[in-house]
Amino acid sequence: MIRPVPHVAAMAPYALADLGSDMTSMAQNESAFPPSPRALAAARGAVTQALLYPDPDWIDLRHAIAETHDLDPDMILCGAGSMELIGCLIRAYAGDGRAVLGTEYSYAFAASAALQAQAVYRQVPESGLTVSIDAILDSVTPDVVLVFLCNPGNPTGTMVPNAEILRLRDDLPEHVLLVVDQAYAEFCDASNDPSGIFALAQRGDTVILRTFSKAYGLAGARVGWSCFPLAIAAQVRKLLNPNNIATASQMMAAAAIRDRAHMREMVRKTEAIRDPFANRCRALGIDVPHSHTNFVLLRFGDANQATEVDQTLKRAGLLMRGMAGYGLPDCLRATICDAPVMEHAASVLKGALS
Ligand SMILES: *Cc1c(COP(=O)(O)O)cnc(C)c1O
Repeated sequence: MIRPVPHVAAMAPYALADLGSDMTSMAQNESAFPPSPRALAAARGAVTQALLYPDPDWIDLRHAIAETHDLDPDMILCGAGSMELIGCLIRAYAGDGRAVLGTEYSYAFAASAALQAQAVYRQVPESGLTVSIDAILDSVTPDVVLVFLCNPGNPTGTMVPNAEILRLRDDLPEHVLLVVDQAYAEFCDASNDPSGIFALAQRGDTVILRTFSKAYGLAGARVGWSCFPLAIAAQVRKLLNPNNIATASQMMAAAAIRDRAHMREMVRKTEAIRDPFANRCRALGIDVPHSHTNFVLLRFGDANQATEVDQTLKRAGLLMRGMAGYGLPDCLRATICDAPVMEHAASVLKGALS
């Protein structure tokens, strides 16, 4: 009998949304709008280079990111999605019975990465649907080596001000690594200035994760990046796959981040659809926390109602994301899509609830 190692045998496969081919996906928080035309042009130019391995050091892309966010390019590593970076970080710093702290509704992939690394993963209660910095601080036991904080949160869409994260860092023990996953930060950079958070990486004890998958509209390119203290970058680098990001993806991401005006316009258009949609849902009696992302969390009266509404939406060709796996069986998470899709979704919700 050929046997896997026990901790892998015991793991459930990572659950992504089950997309039927003729369904409209509102399940994966992909962008409602296409990426910068400059990114698409860059990809076309890259096809002729497929003969060669990509740049293993992502030099042009790292410089484009560094210029945009006023960072040292040596502090940046790029991953095949930020998922690759999360996995490598947890493997490098947790494992061996060491504990990772996440929050109650935090991004499920961190828990999965902890299991892969044979780390202990513990969740800290949130307050309502928002991260509580005090609850995190109260939960730091001696075995905790890493705190994983998603801000804004997925699936809640809520956020804590960056000043609160600075307070968290100040009050955490020095030996605990703080990882701040900012996959949706482009949706709130204007109101929640990130410079203090990036400065924490400079100080040596904090890692900031970002991605091209959401606001930049490049989920299919698989590019994430992270700002690391240099000593941590050196360790994580050892675990990344060499040549991890295809040339076309690197070129698309670099062109996209150099076209920030396009990204900001996509964010603005997404918000202009999101907020009225959330209000229409509230008018139907659905509880919707204010979102700082490109999705909204819809909280129904109870789990049965959420399941029934989900089935009605599916019959209408709309696939939202069930939240039972996150301990929110009374919720569905809806990615903000273009205006006609959201119009359709609002009318199906209205029919289902009246
Ligand atoms: C979408 C998402 C990611 C990013 O994933 P990629 O691997 O970069 O596509 C990371 N964290 C959170 C919270 C997300 O929602």
